[in-house]
Amino acid sequence: MIDPLEPASIVIVGGGHAAAALCSALAAATPGLPVHLVCDEPVLPYQRPPLSKAFLKNPLETLQPLRSAAAYAEAGVTVHLADGAVALDRNRQTVELRSGRALHYRHVVLATGARARTLPGLPATLDNVVSLRSAADAERLRRELDTASKVTVLGGGFIGLEIAAAARQFGKAVTVLESAPRLLARSVSAELSEHVVQTHRANGVDLRLGVRVDGFELDGQRLVAAHVDGLREGIELLVVGIGAAPEQSLAMAAGLACDNGIVVDSGLRTSDPAILAIGDCASFVDAASGLRLRLESVPNATDQARTALATLAGRDEPYRALPWFWSEQGALRLQMAGLLPQGTTPFRRAGNAAASFSLWHYLGDRLVCVESVNAPMDHMTARKLLEAGRHPSPASVSDVGVALKSLA
Ligand code: FAD
Repeated sequence: MIDPLEPASIVIVGGGHAAAALCSALAAATPGLPVHLVCDEPVLPYQRPPLSKAFLKNPLETLQPLRSAAAYAEAGVTVHLADGAVALDRNRQTVELRSGRALHYRHVVLATGARARTLPGLPATLDNVVSLRSAADAERLRRELDTASKVTVLGGGFIGLEIAAAARQFGKAVTVLESAPRLLARSVSAELSEHVVQTHRANGVDLRLGVRVDGFELDGQRLVAAHVDGLREGIELLVVGIGAAPEQSLAMAAGLACDNGIVVDSGLRTSDPAILAIGDCASFVDAASGLRLRLESVPNATDQARTALATLAGRDEPYRALPWFWSEQGALRLQMAGLLPQGTTPFRRAGNAAASFSLWHYLGDRLVCVESVNAPMDHMTARKLLEAGRHPSPASVSDVGVALKSLA
């Protein structure tokens, strides 16, 4: 029921990184407008990256809230937990919650994130099949990892590889099955991909590329085997890590334009200007490449929150943040600055430690992307250079100190 006296508000739908970042300054930037944060999870927004890292590796590790309950209250934000949005009525300008409550809006910000892809033909409710997106998934995976002696990871993406590394730390036998001929093919260069393969294999992971999983054997609620390239592979615990799909169901049902994500303009407005979308669920045009894309990274979520804040406050500040990302896989700390287009020429810079290097990718004489392995200083330098639009020559990059001086 909507209370006729309820004032129009800003309703943020989603309880992740993008939503939490937007909450911090929103009430101050839009005085007089109440702010509601609508979350379907039962806990306050928390750090998601540790779920496949510290949270799995350390049984004592707890969830890390992004902000305390007091911080939301101080910022003037009313938080609704375990009460997701189920409908968006653009005529009445209401967001309907699962509890039946309807919030009257002036603006909605959709920050609904993404959900783990499931495998057609494999029931998602099996006892020993897990995917990882939420805190509840991570708690379940941690329990299953505790007892399993063998873990099979389907999909060699960042999250699958992080889980593989965590499982190896506990001495589990780990197999990673990847259908593509190389790892992380959409995100990293062939050279980095090969380095990641070699590192996981050296760490004892049975990593198989270019394999086809074409059948499953169940025993009641358990998966007992998968058919891999026609051969039977016994399964104790299967982690499905085949990527994520944008959570755009509310937007689609409300008739907003969607195309692998909720379509937004440079101010992150959807096809209805009263509704914005940010974070993993948003499909935007990357200012550097001109390509429409969707990014799944914490920096993208928090940077887009900043742009949404400006749009809601009536300022025109087009989204043009530099994409960057990190992943931790056992001894590998990968960091990427910029997006990697086709056809770049990489320049390799050796780091100080044995397993440390960076790959500086050029299109002609233009620096477009830098991949770093255990080389945080290179990553930070690269970000500063790319953000400043500087294109140091490979010769000057061989000394990051010199490259940095070019910024002065
Ligand atoms: P999310 O953080 O996914 O939050 C979306 C929230 O909205 C969820 O709580 C969801 O339940 C809620 N929601 C959805 N629909 C509704 C609804 N109808 N009503 C109410 N609430 C709803 N990124 C990095 O940069 N580095 C990393 O190392 C890294 N590691 C990761 C490890 C894991 C295991 C995962 C899952 C992701 C990782 N990421 C990493 C990606 C990063 O966490 C995401 O890009 C980021 O969380 C996106 O923020 P978001 O707010 O857009 O979405």
